[in-house]
Amino acid sequence: MNWPKELKVRVNYPLKNKTTFRIGGPAQFFSEPKDIPELKLLLELSRKKKLPVYILGAGSNLLISDKGVRGLVIQLGALRFKDIARENGFIRAGSAVLLGRLIRFAQGESLQGLEFLAGIPGTLGGALAMNAGCWGHNIGDLVKEAQVLGKDGRLRTLSAKQIRFAYRKSSLADYIILSARLKAKKGSQAGIKKNINKYLTARRLTQDLTWPNAGCIFKNPRNKSAGSLIDLCGLKGRNIGGAFISQRHANFILNKKKASSGDVLRLMRLIKKQVSNKFNLILHPEIKIWP
Ligand SMILES: Cc1cc2nc3c(=O)[nH]c(=O)nc-3n(C[C@H](O)[C@H](O)[C@H](O)COP(=O)(O)OP(=O)(O)OC[C@H]3O[C@@H](n4cnc5c(N)ncnc54)[C@H](O)[C@@H]3O)c2cc1C
Repeated sequence: MNWPKELKVRVNYPLKNKTTFRIGGPAQFFSEPKDIPELKLLLELSRKKKLPVYILGAGSNLLISDKGVRGLVIQLGALRFKDIARENGFIRAGSAVLLGRLIRFAQGESLQGLEFLAGIPGTLGGALAMNAGCWGHNIGDLVKEAQVLGKDGRLRTLSAKQIRFAYRKSSLADYIILSARLKAKKGSQAGIKKNINKYLTARRLTQDLTWPNAGCIFKNPRNKSAGSLIDLCGLKGRNIGGAFISQRHANFILNKKKASSGDVLRLMRLIKKQVSNKFNLILHPEIKIWP
């Protein structure tokens, strides 16, 4: 399959190290467009070639099959998508901005309200697509508007009212998110720093960061913690192949010994079955599984 040279489309491109799980085979095609016209062209050609398109952020919420992904994987890694600026009382940031950088920027500008995102290892685009959150806050609450590209190649600016956010779900996931304008309040740098440290400490105490992982594997059922339910099934430490349920946080699966995607999927099935048998509850994955 031929692509215009300027698009720099790579063939059979390894994705494993593009994910925090360190699992997965290659993308049939992979590209990092340098700007919006290139991105549009990639979409148009994929449509013509009938290729599925996947958007990759920092790969921190993904399980990719060892067989890889048929189609085109696009990562918005270019500088054009990493802009960040203060605009009146708001922060405008590109979708490839890492949340850590976003928080540091807000702190430098004495803008508060984003600190709860500290320690989430994703990009702004991934966070908006997932409505990422923690400690009772979700990023969707901060959105004033988002600039997106439709699968039809149309650029749109969506106001908060035009976007639906729910628990780890957002209608923005139907688009390619390019940038967003986020609300923030005036605060003191010292107060913001204190909040960030508070959240990072709480995270260190509860999460397991010793081995590659993708954060929480399952969504919490209403008013319940998926981690506690898995723990109550006595599954902490259980493994299939190289995939282990964390001893510290039962909703984390760790890639300890070169786990395959199949190891993780089998372990997920085992968890679902045991939780369903014991509590009559169905767990739904929070992570995205490609393809
Ligand atoms: C140690 C650890 C801790 C975590 N803690 C939390 C937490 O506290 N709260 C939480 O909510 N999550 C948490 N996560 C999960 C993850 O970090 C978040 O969901 C994050 O927002 C995903 O961002 P990403 O850039 O890595 O997205 P990816 O994993 O690359 O992609 C996730 C989804 O978003 C889509 N996507 C990515 N970028 C775009 C874009 N520009 N446009 C459209 N769609 C896009 C992808 O197609 C995919 O469907 C954690 C993960 C880890 C590894």
